Amino acid sequence: MKQNDNDIHAADTRDSSWRAELRAAMPAKERTAIPRAAMPQLDPAYRITCNEEVNRGLDEEQAVAEATRCLDCPDPQCVTGCPVNIDIPGFIKNIQRGETLEAAAILKRTSALPAVCGRVCPQERQCESRCIYNKMKRPPVAIGYLERFAADTERRALADGAHPDIDKAAPNGLRVAVAGSGPCALSFAGDMARRGFEVDVFEALHEIGGVLKYGIPEFRLPNAVVDSELDNLRRLGVRFHTDIVIGKTLSYDDLIERGYSGLFVASGAGLPRFMGIPGENFIGVMSSNEYLTRINLMGAGSPDAATPVARGRRVAVIGGGNTAMDSVRTARRMGAERAMIVYRRSLAEMPARIEEVEHAKEEGVEFLTLCNPVEYLADENGRVCAMRVQRMELGQPDASGRRSPVPIPGAIDEIEVDEVIVSVGVSPNPLIPDSISGLEVTNRGTIAVDGNLRSSIPLIFAGGDIVRGGATVILAMGDGRRAAAAMAAQLLEQNK
Ligand code: FAD
Ligand code: SF4
Repeated sequence: MKQNDNDIHAADTRDSSWRAELRAAMPAKERTAIPRAAMPQLDPAYRITCNEEVNRGLDEEQAVAEATRCLDCPDPQCVTGCPVNIDIPGFIKNIQRGETLEAAAILKRTSALPAVCGRVCPQERQCESRCIYNKMKRPPVAIGYLERFAADTERRALADGAHPDIDKAAPNGLRVAVAGSGPCALSFAGDMARRGFEVDVFEALHEIGGVLKYGIPEFRLPNAVVDSELDNLRRLGVRFHTDIVIGKTLSYDDLIERGYSGLFVASGAGLPRFMGIPGENFIGVMSSNEYLTRINLMGAGSPDAATPVARGRRVAVIGGGNTAMDSVRTARRMGAERAMIVYRRSLAEMPARIEEVEHAKEEGVEFLTLCNPVEYLADENGRVCAMRVQRMELGQPDASGRRSPVPIPGAIDEIEVDEVIVSVGVSPNPLIPDSISGLEVTNRGTIAVDGNLRSSIPLIFAGGDIVRGGATVILAMGDGRRAAAAMAAQLLEQNK
């Protein structure tokens, strides 16, 4: 077993001679003068014609130069900015000395899906926001780019026949079930398998991966990257079962009867929210969940599909988060001539990753900020043809700390649209909580858990969006790991 705190300390090589030599090899002044690596990207005019991944990844020369920028701080604040406290300088310095597979191994001790996190984590608000370079008014070390570089290098090495890390404890004879197969479920499953448990993952949809597959589009996170992480889990012995809805196809009691010692619920927050304004039932108005799932998972973007999704020419996406950005950029790739983000606050308050906003702008997406739809209008066939938009201004900060949008009296515009995608948030799916009597939920509909992610039923643990109500990949993964540690300890104690 590699994944306990002692091993993480054992992996801290800051005092080793090679690290000291790297620090001595180039003065800090010279290192801080190296410009931050620029991510190679597909040309915007080309990328809106296809689904190819936009960011191409650093090459080795760029990665080593970027790793050289890292000052190997004695008290690295980047680590505290990472929700799972990855040994950031440890992995970066291994890239600098050419030991990229060792860098990947360090990442995997803390992050189950580094190739995914290197692509989608909001590093600019997490680890990179704490990098010491910010204090020097210089761009932070590109920690996310380097994480992706290390993980991709390892994936290519595995494809070329390198020996995979399937280090695991001897079987302990205990079986656990997992509901859902998103990042939270996958990190839990990997950790439990490494601890010697038999793990069965049950997914309601016909594909494994959760939002990584049905939400985040191929141009941002290729399916091949997720599939290779799934292969690693299969090698560890994790079994995946699709088209099984826990709470319907199999109940919690069924699982216990079949010999499972515990259930981990990681069923996400996939229930779309709407705004409750007139016209949301018109044809052509849909949630981003429906839009992205149909295109990413069911091939509805192809005109040959049995139920192809409509290709709007003037598409409005309501909201300012990552899901809104993924939807509007997908609409552009689906041929929208006018693809618009309609957001009630200003760009400064937008929750989406800065990189996604920039990419959307490069791809010709219009940003109608300080605008809030109040009504949709339809043609004689009941198909949406326009929206009425209330202009807003910023008022005092609200509970979220962001300046709240306040309507400007009488400032209402009408904008022609033929497709509207509503992306204003999601709620936890109530199916599992409703199907298990005695399972406590909060007033937001999330499963109530203690500090170890144990629910009100001692054999059920839960994590990710079903507990947090919508967060990030890395937080979901961190939950999976914490829950695995706590559930394993509990089950091993009970079955001594
Ligand atoms: P999910 O990934 O939602 O997985 C839950 C799984 O459970 C699903 O596959 C679902 O089908 C399955 N399920 C549900 N009910 C049942 C049942 N009863 N039985 C069996 N299976 C069931 N985060 C970032 O960090 N960076 C980003 O750039 C980013 N972009 C995003 C873009 C989009 C479009 C979306 C929707 C989210 C994005 N997020 C992003 C958020 C992030 O993806 C989620 O926080 C994360 O996926 C939550 O993980 P999870 O494992 O809890 O749930
Ligand atoms: Fe390197 Fe920045 Fe972390 Fe310091 S804070 S160790 S410079 S990545």
